Amino acid sequence: MRTLTVLGATGSVGASTLDLIRRNRDEWRVLALTAHSNTAELARLAREFGAELAVVANEAQLPALREALAGSGVEAAGGPAALVEAAARGADVTLAAIVGCAGLAPTMAAIEQGGVIALANKEALVSAGDVMTAAVERHGATLLPVDSEHNAIFQCLAGNDSAHVRWITLTASGGPFRDWSWERLCAATPAEAVRHPNWDMGAKISVDSATMFNKGLELIEAHHLFPVGLDRLRIIVHPQSVVHSMVEYRDGSTLAQLGPSDMRVPIASALAWPERMDTPCTPLDLAEIGELTFRRPDEERFPATRLAREAAMAGGAIPAVLNAANEIAVAAFLAGQISFTRIAAQVEDVLGSYAPPPPGCLSDVLEVDTEARARARVLMTSA
Ligand code: NDP
Ligand code: MG
Repeated sequence: MRTLTVLGATGSVGASTLDLIRRNRDEWRVLALTAHSNTAELARLAREFGAELAVVANEAQLPALREALAGSGVEAAGGPAALVEAAARGADVTLAAIVGCAGLAPTMAAIEQGGVIALANKEALVSAGDVMTAAVERHGATLLPVDSEHNAIFQCLAGNDSAHVRWITLTASGGPFRDWSWERLCAATPAEAVRHPNWDMGAKISVDSATMFNKGLELIEAHHLFPVGLDRLRIIVHPQSVVHSMVEYRDGSTLAQLGPSDMRVPIASALAWPERMDTPCTPLDLAEIGELTFRRPDEERFPATRLAREAAMAGGAIPAVLNAANEIAVAAFLAGQISFTRIAAQVEDVLGSYAPPPPGCLSDVLEVDTEARARARVLMTSA
């Protein structure tokens, strides 16, 4: 039996993960489950899976969580420090599925225990980059990508020396606005942005997918996960989301991973690695799908991938600035405070106003994140 902690258990990736665990109950014991403020769902899950510990990051919700867990035998805790303690309980596998840089400190705490970290929380790796990969090395942890593209690349690289890689190609669905004109994009609403054609995801990543910041963050994520230069990473738009990414080798062979647009596939791959496990996902029916199409991304309408590539090239703290600025802009867009096209413009403004030195440790990264958020808020109110 292996032990599992799910950081962000009440979210979309958390739910997909626990669905797989529900079907394999005899193989897993749940140590800790965490949420931000959805105490009712957290308590329900903690009871169902017999978790040792349930943590709500928003401390004001702790009394409600205690009440919901009364008599269950599940320990309840609240606040950011409790979140870090939950991650440090040393589960065999920690599924990092908090959204945003808020997941960084607990993910680092899990890494310090040296177990397997199944990483969905791309913002943590984008922000902490070298600090996180150095910690993985130092503590002998294993970082397995859950993000579907990176999980695909991980599978396509298996057994091959990365020195033989010519290209890693990340596929992008292009999001719900991929064929929209600039004029139409300027008027896009939050409700339209969160309606993704292929994937059912949390609100933040859905907006990122619509702006293409998701692919930009993924480019930076790939740069840290796979030992090939940025000049060998590229993006291609593939509206059907069937090919999840590809690796081309120097001899001209391209390996691709295909699968249904269901996060349970890459999550299962990470949970069972290096073995395989069953999933209930509807198998691909390529004859039914008929055609797979590909096209180049349009960085005029969607400047996010250019901004992310530039941030990755600058390195150091710059990707953390980009991520923080994007988190603030996405929240403002979802709250109806800025337009869709202002998201990228605002990120570019923050990047132009703040270039901190490379961070040496976790607290440096968190400082950059806090300062970048503050600047993004100021820029927004003065715009
Ligand atoms: P959701 O918004 O659905 O879920 C986020 C989870 O994190 C919830 O459990 C939420 O708790 C918790 N959370 C939110 N804010 C905080 C905080 N400040 N502190 C602690 N916990 C917090 O997100 P997704 O599941 O869609 O995405 C999670 C991560 O996985 C993201 O980084 C995303 O980019 C990545 N990812 C997601 C994919 C998907 O298909 N959804 C695909 C690939 C990657 P509560 O419910 O209480 O708010
Ligand atoms: Mg992805």
